[in-house]
Order: sequence, then structure tokens, then C-alpha cells
Amino acid sequence: MGFKDMAIFNQALLAKQALRLVEKPDSLCARFIKAKYYPNGNLLDTAFIRSSSPVWQGIKHGLELLKSGYIWRLGNGKSVDIWRHNWLPRGNLRVSGKAAPTRIRRVSDLLMPGQREWNAQLINHIFYPHDAETILNLKLPASDGEDVIAWQGEKSGNFTVRSAYRLALDMTMPSTTGESSGSPQGDRKLNDVIWKANVPPKVRVFGWKLATNSLAVQVLRSWRIGKGRPTCSICGREEETNFHAVMNCTKARALRLRMRSDWKLPEEGALRQEGDDWVLVMLDSVDALTHQRLLLLWWRVWHLRNDSIFGTSMATIEESAQCIRSYSLALENMKGPESGIWSCLQRAVHDNRQNGMHMSSEPRAGWTPAAADWLKLNCDASFIPQTGESWWGSILRSSTGTIIASAWGISGQCVSVVEAEAIAARCGIEALCEDAGMKLHLESDCIDLISGPIGHLLCYLRYQRFAS
Ligand SMILES: [Zn+2]
Repeated sequence: MGFKDMAIFNQALLAKQALRLVEKPDSLCARFIKAKYYPNGNLLDTAFIRSSSPVWQGIKHGLELLKSGYIWRLGNGKSVDIWRHNWLPRGNLRVSGKAAPTRIRRVSDLLMPGQREWNAQLINHIFYPHDAETILNLKLPASDGEDVIAWQGEKSGNFTVRSAYRLALDMTMPSTTGESSGSPQGDRKLNDVIWKANVPPKVRVFGWKLATNSLAVQVLRSWRIGKGRPTCSICGREEETNFHAVMNCTKARALRLRMRSDWKLPEEGALRQEGDDWVLVMLDSVDALTHQRLLLLWWRVWHLRNDSIFGTSMATIEESAQCIRSYSLALENMKGPESGIWSCLQRAVHDNRQNGMHMSSEPRAGWTPAAADWLKLNCDASFIPQTGESWWGSILRSSTGTIIASAWGISGQCVSVVEAEAIAARCGIEALCEDAGMKLHLESDCIDLISGPIGHLLCYLRYQRFAS
């Protein structure tokens, strides 16, 4: 790769100078510059004095690039600012915000006191689910040494002018909104457009990854391992960006075309890539229903794409169309007081096939839906008397009979069919209905359970969500 753009090449060189100051804070040059321009704090997270000195302007220019591409490798976590530093090894290197108010600032405060272990309860409480997941998957070093800075653009973690040049080039791609997703305005917008969207949580997490460029598309991967810009591994026609993956690639176009026969989507001409923040720009410009449908569509396209690259290539366009259509219908039926249920559906949301579970989507003869404003939960168990093994399954349906969610699992050893049925009812509620103020009609076909101590099965459940 040649360095065609001299201004960008120059910034990459300046980033190298800035890195020297960070890595060798005791050098004569670093001490001189610190005393003059940032006497308090350190180079990576200090607000600087205004100065027109060309030396300082140059360092600042290089530092901007350095800040976009460095990542902390954790030691004791004491040097790493949770909210301002890059420390998560993924597309978007920073956490996406606070899910609950907290004064905690250093990564070291996220560890169990005196241990080399994450405080999972605390982490799940103060971070959004996708951030919590990334953090809890981060391996902590066995001994508690100093935190060190590494460069993301090279596998080795060592800074190179070449990869800094490539990063700077990527960063010059135009952004029409002027609100990149890293800025406070961008965070607010991300919050409104993604986190408040009326889609299941896992689709929101996907939407967030798409909007912040955190999906594992080739362009990002190749930047990290220091190769050139690759073409799409499915169609080979264009560079594999997130826009290409969910909008322009063959499967993306095919599923969108298929959905046009069911859904009113914006004209093709209106679905353009407008800068880095195209996801937010596009979602912001459509009505709530289209907003929801675009997110579902992209989420499913990503599934199709992964299935053809890493999976069995068995997923079909028709199946995908059915899947997102039923999601959208279920969401339609969930308007009103029950809509909060989406916040607690953690498991197996109407994806029976993916989970290897085959439940009939048609209710059996004689089944009637719950009254308006109520949901109906059907629970069932299978029990092998000889071995005591048992399994449970449950389906939650709206008052129109549409499946909202389903879940299943192994109940373990039971002594009787009544016990197995009781566990099925409990597991069904725990998996699907743990929501405050939900009107739930619980139905089981086990007469002993109905006439037993559990009593009537028509219950009004008021669950308090865990508040820790
Ligand atoms: Zn493609």
C-alpha cells in the first residue's frame, strides 16, 4: 500500500510522535512538553490548554489519531477510565454508556475485592447487556501488573505508521450528520433510535452493533490484522462494509425484495448510505413501524449472511421472511400495557427452529385465546416414570392467539408427573413472564395440578423484577 494522501500520512507520523510521549513519559522531551502544555493529568485523557504553538498543534493532531486506535490491555485496571478510555476489544472500543447511575470510574473497581475476578452482579447492573457481556468475557491476567497501551491496528499490538495511516483514511469517510456515534449527541441519538426501538432486546443489541460499526465485517477485521481492504466474501462485488452486508449484498437485496410484498418499505432510492451514521440517519427518517421493520430486516439478513459464511447455508429467504413477519405481528399485538415484556424476554424468543425445538405454531383443537389485555401461557411436561427424567416447554400467546415467545428446557429428575408439570409451569413463568403487572392466564392440561395445592390456574401475577 502506498501513502497517497500526504496530509494523512503526516498525521500518522505525528501519532507516532505522540505515542513516544505516552510510552516514555520520563524522557526529556516528554517532561518538557508536559510541563508546558498539560501539567496536570496524562496525555490520553487531559483537556488541553489552548495554544497556537505549531509543535503542540502537531502533537495534538497526532494524538487525535492515536486516541482512536489505541486500546488498554488490562493489568490491575487502576489506570483505565471505564467511561472515557478504549478498553473493550471489539469494533467500538468504549462502553456505550451507563445503564444505571454510578460513581465508579476505574476498571479496577469492577473486580471483586482482593480477587482477580469480575464482579458480575455489579457489571450487569451498571452496563447495558452487550457491554456487560463483552466485559465478563474479558480475561483478566493472573497477576496484577500495570495496565499497558496497545495499538489495535496490528496483531502484535505495536504501533505502525502504515496501520495508523489506514485508520486515518477510514476516519476521513464523510459523515453527514456531524454526530458521530462517539459524541454525546450521537449517544443520545443512539439511545433514542436503537435502545427505545420497539423490537426484542437481541434485535436492539444487533442494531446497536450495526449503528456503531461493531459487527465483524471484513473491513474492520482486516484493519485489525493489518491487511488491505477486502471485498465481500459472499458476492465479491464490493468492499464488505456494514452497509454492504445488510443493504447491498445479494441476500440483503433478496430478503428486502421479498418483504416488499408484505410490508411497505421506503423506495430503494431513499435507502442510501449517508455517511458513517447511515443507520441512525435512515432510522431517524422513517415512521415507527418502518423503523421496527428495518431493524428486524437487517437483523435477519445478518443471520442469513452468517449462515452462508460460517453455518450450514440452510436458511432460506422464505423462512427468514416468515420469521420476521411473525415477530412484527407479535410486536403489533404487544402494544399497550404488556409491551414491557420485551424487556425481560431473555431466552428463546420465538426461534424454535434455531433452538432445535419443534413446537407446533398452531394451537391444538379446543384451545381458546386469553381475554383482551391478557396473555396466555400454555405449559406442558414430558415425564419418563422409569427413569424420572423430565422436560418442560411453554408458549406465550397474545389475546389474538399470536405466539409471542416460547421456551423449553430439561427439568431434571422428578418423582411424579405432577411434579414435572408443576416445574413446567414454574419454568415457563420464569423464562417468559417475569414482568411486573402482567395479566397472565396460565393453562396446563394436568388435572392433578389444577386440583392440587396450586389451586386455580387463572392467576393475576404481579412479579417484581429483581432490582439489584
Ligand atoms: Zn456481498
